[in-house]
Amino acid sequence: MGEDFSALGRRLASVDAQVRTAADGAGREPAEITRIVVTKFHPPELITRLRELGVGEIAENRQQEFAGKLERVPNPGDLSWHFVGQLQTNKARAMARAAKTVPLTVHAIDRVKLVDALDRAWDEEEAPSLDAFVQVNLTDDPARGGARPEDLEMLAERVAHASHLRLRGVMAVAPLGEDPAAAFARAAGLADVVRTVDPDARSLSAGMSGDFVEAIAAGATHLRIGSAITGNRPPRG
Ligand SMILES: *Cc1c(COP(=O)(O)O)cnc(C)c1O
Repeated sequence: MGEDFSALGRRLASVDAQVRTAADGAGREPAEITRIVVTKFHPPELITRLRELGVGEIAENRQQEFAGKLERVPNPGDLSWHFVGQLQTNKARAMARAAKTVPLTVHAIDRVKLVDALDRAWDEEEAPSLDAFVQVNLTDDPARGGARPEDLEMLAERVAHASHLRLRGVMAVAPLGEDPAAAFARAAGLADVVRTVDPDARSLSAGMSGDFVEAIAAGATHLRIGSAITGNRPPRG
């Protein structure tokens, strides 16, 4: 465990150094880039160790696993949580419940039905408490998740008008087999379009272990980094 812990610290420091170098190279301030650690499939103890290393932003991608970790990580409200997986409409209430106890951002809003289900999960008088990215699908394969580029602005407007959601920007995953720089450039262009819907929705959630340098060059503000920091994921439970 001591050994594991120091390896975790080394990988985290190495990724953060690469983030700073990439930000410098792109003429950007590292402070405008949020590095989120994706802990999916790992036990809750990993989150506690990451917190001891100063990590404050944690991401999960399956609703049940996320709910379980909120119960098992001590003081979960001291962390900012991100849900980066595809979300079923029937999980909207559970997500809203979580958002009432911890700071929560949902990254993969990809359809109007999901916006409406999330918005309805609050009582009318309750303040907004869920930050939301609209996800764009940069492939031609609908199974990859995300809205079609031509539908993104409409979806962003729907989020902007929802009483209980706060539009943050665009989320994208680089397609397999395409140069990530080209894919992220398209995502950045779409983020500019979404900014016309709400000038405060300035964020771009892009970049994973294999492509965060390209994402930073394209203007990413939120990196979702898993294995480069956590090491290999255990097999899915
Ligand atoms: C798992 C996951 C990541 C992190 O992937 P790594 O390649 O391990 O960095 C980022 N984004 C999403 C949506 C994920 O599901």
